[in-house]
Amino acid sequence: MTAEPVNSDSDKRHLRVAVVGGGITGLSAMHTLTRAVTRGGCPVEVTLFEASRRLGGIIRTEEADGFLMELGPDSFITNKPGGVRLCEELGYAQQLIPTDSRFRRSLVLSRGRPQPVPDGFMLMVPEKPWSLVASPVLSVAGRLRLLGEYFLPGRAPAGDESLASFVRRRFGREALDRLVQPLVGGIYTSDPEKLSLQATLPRFPEMEARSGSVIRDALRQKKRAGSADPQRSGSGARYGLFAAPRRGLGDLVATLEQRLRATSGVRFQMGSAIQSISSQPSQQGRTEWCVQTGDKKQVFDAVVLTLPTWLAAQVLQGPQFNDLRQHLRAIEYASSAIVVSGHQLSDFRDRMEAFGLVVPACERRQILAVSFSSRKFEGRAPAGQIVLRTFLGGAMQPELMERSDEELLAIVNTELQQIFGMSQEPIFAEVMRYDRAMPQYHVGHLDRVAAIERGLAQHAGLQLAGSGYRGVGIPDSIDSGREAAERILALR
Ligand SMILES: Cc1cc2nc3c(=O)[nH]c(=O)nc-3n(C[C@H](O)[C@H](O)[C@H](O)COP(=O)(O)OP(=O)(O)OC[C@H]3O[C@@H](n4cnc5c(N)ncnc54)[C@H](O)[C@@H]3O)c2cc1C
Repeated sequence: MTAEPVNSDSDKRHLRVAVVGGGITGLSAMHTLTRAVTRGGCPVEVTLFEASRRLGGIIRTEEADGFLMELGPDSFITNKPGGVRLCEELGYAQQLIPTDSRFRRSLVLSRGRPQPVPDGFMLMVPEKPWSLVASPVLSVAGRLRLLGEYFLPGRAPAGDESLASFVRRRFGREALDRLVQPLVGGIYTSDPEKLSLQATLPRFPEMEARSGSVIRDALRQKKRAGSADPQRSGSGARYGLFAAPRRGLGDLVATLEQRLRATSGVRFQMGSAIQSISSQPSQQGRTEWCVQTGDKKQVFDAVVLTLPTWLAAQVLQGPQFNDLRQHLRAIEYASSAIVVSGHQLSDFRDRMEAFGLVVPACERRQILAVSFSSRKFEGRAPAGQIVLRTFLGGAMQPELMERSDEELLAIVNTELQQIFGMSQEPIFAEVMRYDRAMPQYHVGHLDRVAAIERGLAQHAGLQLAGSGYRGVGIPDSIDSGREAAERILALR
């Protein structure tokens, strides 16, 4: 739902809103709040509290020596509205570029060697069954078991199920271990035995319910859409659906910041870590929100809290939040690291002609995935060079996060040598750590989020937003910030 233009503010209440967290969720909330101001002139004052000295949170882009390096996320999916709509509202949509169709394929490590993910294999569905038949990634028995899903009777979904249980039941153990776990793990950095299918990939149980078989449903949909659908080319994720700003996601953040700074009624309190948020009755009989930073307390009519759920639980103070805090704390987060490195292409035995490689847990390596960043998007490395982003840790290998940066760099170098035949040290390499940054949507997650939303309904003026609730990606976070802001605007 988009905020409609407001023609008159005379009958609207003046609102003082605190936004906590200057990542993309908080910026999206501010954008929605200030759009209501600029379009309708209604009085909303917005104050951002950001603990660090920079905006963007997990999003961070650097440029040096002709390389463009995404140190956090690198792109977003366009079939969810959040990202594209925000860019359109900013007049920024022309800066979005699609993935480079020349390299639109994924690799999976299979018995120590990078092999192409079978063409048309989308997370768990072989949309081109013949290419699966010809692929060496699964044994003959594994391929037959996977394709046999077409003939398996459907089971009416009875509540939530883990990804692992669903895939084993429908496609067999080998498909889970060798293809689905690494492909889905690359997105959620999660343990598939715990990952909620309903919260992450609800379309697959829906396909089973609709057609009795996921493959049968996919083939029907494909027939309906026509085989010429360009977004269906490739393998792994639906890469034709991904986009990124030409100059990196940091440029989108900078554009948002510039726009917000030029808007009256907006204040930025950078380097201001919130210590607590509490509520008290106002003189008008409403609820006021007290935001504490250092020894300063500021009072607001509403708060949008965009921190990870475990941090949100820490800052909410008072017995009235006991239940809410308990649910927020129960959402687990995984830590991960990305090693961003630049190389001469000629230093690899492999041609590196793909978007990246995913590594099944059963291969027992120390990396989760490698994204070939400058193959995915043009213009990210000088000619003859390549930028790689190697992922480590996640829910499956938390112990790696105890290692020093030097140790992580050494691990990545060894893996790149063994897997791709890298013969020289990288031109540069940088380690980025993301501590408890990736929410884990375990089985039952949606019930927990529903309980959080019921609890929140008792606290008019408090909104929680971010990737911890109803979607982990950038478009989900943007939508979550927007919706939180719209609910606050409805208070006027
Ligand atoms: C390694 C990694 C790679 C990813 N890759 C992709 C991708 O390619 N595509 C995609 O769509 N999604 C990706 N995601 C997910 C995406 O990054 C998130 O959905 C999104 O960035 C979350 O934004 P946010 O604003 O909710 O949180 P954050 O970016 O975490 O922002 C929270 C902000 O709150 C601030 N803060 C913390 N504590 C306080 C406090 N006490 N007071 C005030 N401020 C505080 C922090 O400094 C931070 O700026 C990735 C996530 C990770 C971790």
